[in-house]
Formats: sequence, structure tokens, C-alpha cells
Amino acid sequence: KQEGRGRYCHYRADLLNDQDEGQRLTKALVTSLKTAPGEFSVVYQPQFELATGRVDGLEALIRWTHPEFGPISPARFVAMAESRGMIHQLTEHLVRCILRDLWSLEKPPEPGLRFAINVSARQITDARLDGLLNPLFEQIRRLGWHPELEITETHLMNLSEDALERLRTFRDEGIRVAIDDFGTGYSSLAYLHSLPVHTIKIDRHFVSCLEDTLPVEDRDRVIAAILALAEVFGLEAIAEGIETSQQQSALLALACKRGQGYFLARPQPWSSGLLAPKKL
Ligand code: C2E
Ligand code: MG
Ligand code: MG
Ligand code: MG
Repeated sequence: KQEGRGRYCHYRADLLNDQDEGQRLTKALVTSLKTAPGEFSVVYQPQFELATGRVDGLEALIRWTHPEFGPISPARFVAMAESRGMIHQLTEHLVRCILRDLWSLEKPPEPGLRFAINVSARQITDARLDGLLNPLFEQIRRLGWHPELEITETHLMNLSEDALERLRTFRDEGIRVAIDDFGTGYSSLAYLHSLPVHTIKIDRHFVSCLEDTLPVEDRDRVIAAILALAEVFGLEAIAEGIETSQQQSALLALACKRGQGYFLARPQPWSSGLLAPKKL
């Protein structure tokens, strides 16, 4: 269609190429995970106390840059690693990169920060997870920070009893658990109540709906409802994907206490500037 009317092309070839590309990428990922640790890195996105602009959390996000394919979105390669049973290796690289950054800290900054990593639901019952995360948790605590695990809502809903038990153990050990992308899955109230979680991360879809053009009550309704839900269950709430000052003000007006997004700070490599407050 882009090329104008009355033209046709052999779409099959494109489809095959896409499929091909996917397979080549998956193969490359498997190889890189095994042999090229230098291709993996980590960036951190600060989380803010919205009223003050103070940084009160960091989320670690993995990066992969392949010499031929360039930087690949984690949304893509994390799923590939999962499907190839290699998410553990991916997390190994993540933890190694984070530890290197944390060790480089001379004096521990700002105590009380939440330090979050994303984990796949299927890792929770992996017997190797403790061995992998314990050194990280130890280091985070040494800095006076609080470890947090982010798990996507859609996956949380399908956890086995074993996995839930594991999450309860995490909770008892003082590890916080956050429901990522909240609102995209279908948590029932009863289920939400029984989950050992501390934080709800309001999916950025709802934040992007905070637009001027809708009547105020409509645009605010869903977030107001999620915040009320969090309050009822005694959970912390954080809005993700804040891209404009308008969204930030709307969230503040709704009494949303915490936020994260490009408007406040982009994910970035480790540096001393990471914890700088946002001037409001
Ligand atoms: P997520 O955990 O929901 O992370 C938030 C994603 O939104 C990140 O993308 C972040 O860069 C992006 N983001 C942050 N602020 C904004 C904003 O204001 N606007 C927009 N449009 N986007 C924003 P990223 O880094 O590409 O990660 C995508 C997803 O990949 C993550 O979603 C998470 O589910 C997964 N992921 C990333 N790192 C890891 C990891 O180490 N392990 C696992 N298992 N999954 C990971
Ligand atoms: Mg996350
Ligand atoms: Mg998220
Ligand atoms: Mg997400």
C-alpha cells in the first residue's frame, strides 16, 4: 500500500525473512549468552517521589547489543531467552553487571531506596534462583537499600502454588515483590488479596490516557480506581511511563505518590547523576 495503488508484491518472501530473522536472532542470542558476556549490559531507571522529585528507587533493565544486529529490545530477547530455556543465563549476566556497578560505589548514597529487577514468572521456582540472587540481595542491603522483584501481572495470575509459596518466602526474607504492568492482566480481587506483593506498578497505558482532551473524570477514572485498590490492600503504587509534565501533575492531583518515566528520567548507565532529584 505504501508504494501506491494497483501494485502487488510477494509478501511471503517478507514473512519468511521475518521468520528467518527471528530464528537467526534467537540463535545469536543463545551463542552470545554462552560466549559473549560483553554484549550484555544494564541500565537503571530512577523512580521518584512525585511530590518532592526525590529519587526513591531504581529499576535495573537489561540491554543486549549484538555486533551484527545492533541493540535489540529486551521485550524481544527476554521472550527468546525464555522460549529457549535460557532466562537463567540472562539473569546471570544481569546480576554480574549490577554487582560490578554496585561494587564501584565508594560511599553508599541515600538509604531506603528500592532496588528492583525484573524476573520472569518461570524463574521463581527455579532452584538456581537463590544462589543467583542472594549475593545481589546481600549487596543491595549492605547499601541500606531494599531489594524488589518485578513480575508482570499476566504471569502472576498463572503462578503455581509452589511459585506462590516461593514468593511468600521472599516476602518473609524482606524481599519486596511488585506487580509489573498492572491493569494489563485480569487480577481478580480475591486473587490480588492473596498475593504476597508490596507494590502495584500502574501500566503506562493508563498513564498515557491522562490527556487533556478527555473530560477530566473519564481520563482519571481508571488510575483513581487502581490507586483506591492499592490503598484497600495496603499496597504501594507507582505509575510507569510518565512522559509529560501534564501526566505528572494529573498523577499528583490523584494523590499518586510515586512515578517513573521518560519525563522524569530515562534508563541510563550507572553514574553518580542517577540519584539526582528532579527539579519540579
Ligand atoms: P518493564 O519492566 O515494564 O520496563 C519498563 C519499560 O518501559 C522499559 O523498557 C523502559 O525503558 C520503558 N519506559 C520507561 N519509561 C518510559 C516512558 O516514559 N515511555 C515509554 N514509552 N517507555 C518507558 P525496556 O527496557 O525496553 O524493557 C522492556 C521490558 O523488558 C521490561 O518491561 C521487562 O518486562 C523486560 N525486561 C527488561 N529487563 C529485564 C531483565 O533483566 N529481566 C527480565 N526477565 N525482563 C526484563
Ligand atoms: Mg519492570
Ligand atoms: Mg512495567
Ligand atoms: Mg512492561
